[in-house]
Amino acid sequence: MKLLPLSLNLNGQRALVVGGGPVGFRRCKTLVDAGLQVQVVSIDVLPAFVQFIQDQKLNLAKRAVTKSDVSADYALVVAATNDRAANQMLAAQAKQHGVLVNVADDAAACDVTFPSVLERSPVQVAVSSGSASPILSKMLMRRLSTVIPSGYGKLADLVGAYRQKVKQAIPKSADRKLFWEKILTGVVAENIFSGRPERAETLLQAALAKPKELQARGEVYLIGAGPGDPDLLTVRAVRLLHQAQVIVYDRLVSPEILSMFGEHQEMLYVGKQRANHSMPQQNINQVLVDLAKQGKRVARLKGGDPFIFGRGGEEIETLAQSGIPFQVIPGITAAAGCASYSGIPLTHRDYAQSVRFVTGQLQDNTVDLNWPQLIDNDQTLVFYMGLNGFPIISQNLIEHGMNAAMPVALIEKGTTLQQRVHITSLDSIGDYLATNKVQSPSLFIVGEVVQLHQKLSWFEANEAESK
Ligand code: SAH
Repeated sequence: MKLLPLSLNLNGQRALVVGGGPVGFRRCKTLVDAGLQVQVVSIDVLPAFVQFIQDQKLNLAKRAVTKSDVSADYALVVAATNDRAANQMLAAQAKQHGVLVNVADDAAACDVTFPSVLERSPVQVAVSSGSASPILSKMLMRRLSTVIPSGYGKLADLVGAYRQKVKQAIPKSADRKLFWEKILTGVVAENIFSGRPERAETLLQAALAKPKELQARGEVYLIGAGPGDPDLLTVRAVRLLHQAQVIVYDRLVSPEILSMFGEHQEMLYVGKQRANHSMPQQNINQVLVDLAKQGKRVARLKGGDPFIFGRGGEEIETLAQSGIPFQVIPGITAAAGCASYSGIPLTHRDYAQSVRFVTGQLQDNTVDLNWPQLIDNDQTLVFYMGLNGFPIISQNLIEHGMNAAMPVALIEKGTTLQQRVHITSLDSIGDYLATNKVQSPSLFIVGEVVQLHQKLSWFEANEAESK
């Protein structure tokens, strides 16, 4: 049965709710909220419901319902008694009087059903499963509530107040549509969401004064995609990725994440591989500037967190110099993701009081680090980009005094279904890497905390772990 979704204006009209249990109570609250005057009829009424009726100054008739309770004076009848015959009688009476009826737990008898509603007043999002599963509707609703921030109501209020002015200032409807799209997805909306309504209004007024400039104005979101598992994207990242027109990404962004986008966005690969930069950093910086100057909303998507070994700073420096608006959305960095998904806490009261993220990248075939600083038994070391340099790194750590038996975890493709965790030690890692094929991206965790993996490992990848 296909339903017709409508948003009914029944403000000031009358409704009859029969039944004083939880369903009647819930419906009654919804009706009062929508401005209806409610008459309640029921032999028994929940105490909280009685209180509500008193507070709202509604009418309550504490008795059994009769046919004559239903009349054409009502816009809507809700039959929510626990007596099926009474509910059916009410439905039949309502139909006779041409009044809309809702019957609890009886989809076939209903003219109208109550959807789950997400309130972002004046915006309302309603989900109906056509009585198949109210729990499913609620679940979907909760999911929607995470991607529709509460600020959407305020945004609707602001743009509602400017609707007529914009209509006068931009008479062509196609131009107006573009204008509103920019406002609803750009800095005006972002300022509302981040709790700066005055700034949002000033920006809206400025945009209205010079709509052409707004058209030409792009912006860039520098977004951390996390280490691989798409579930680790932040809510904000997902929202901005959906509203971007171009997604500029590189090799570290997992295919699972990329497959979520692209239907409405242009996807631009600027991937980098070690010693084989397919696009030099300056060119990437320039691409972002050029796209934004074309008026595009650009998502620059980077693996992990953009500010941890991500050169994110350089990319936004160029944007800042060119006066292009941007924002930075943090991501879960590989160290945090790999640590969680391999059951290795990076700090632990008994083993490590601090943690250090270190680059293990080779330069001229060597790794130049401040070795004495790295030698500390109470500290966990995490090496990014260390796959090629690690034999040199482990050798140096041992030479500078670290225990040669210090456990090392090598986590390959962390947080993805292809994750593999290799456990070895400083003095045997060289041999291990020589005999085992390990793929990138992978990182090394060095420290006593690695021992905890055996106890705390929980994540099951598709492939068997190799140890
Ligand atoms: N900005 C990124 C790091 C970029 S440097 C972040 O915050 O995570 C690239 C290095 O990150 C890789 O060489 C590897 O050491 C590490 N890395 C990124 N994703 C990883 C993953 N899924 N598993 C293991 N290591 C990862």
